[in-house]
Amino acid sequence: MKAFVMKRIGEVGFLDKPMPSPGPNDAVVRTTSALICTSDSHTVAGGIGPREDLTLGHEAVGVVAEVGSEVRAFRPGDRVLVGAITPDWGDPAAQGGHASQSSTSSSGSWS
Ligand SMILES: [Zn+2]
Repeated sequence: MKAFVMKRIGEVGFLDKPMPSPGPNDAVVRTTSALICTSDSHTVAGGIGPREDLTLGHEAVGVVAEVGSEVRAFRPGDRVLVGAITPDWGDPAAQGGHASQSSTSSSGSWS
């Protein structure tokens, strides 16, 4: 897959990366549109320290390509929005339909 990356502090570009495989509770989304936001700019400027070939663009829309073995709410072909923050789906607020009110887990982005 083609990824827009921070090659190193102050330098961005495109890179070919392997398609990720979903974990049991994950989905892999084929991005159709994505944004570069101010946190990406901060990252490229060195705000989180040195990184190499870090994929940028954590706010996107796309189509589900593959789901993990435990995923029931989504299936390949579903059109989805990928939010900037990945909720903790085990949190009662998220399970009650208020994902934006839950604590957060690790980002759904890949490196
Ligand atoms: Zn953002």
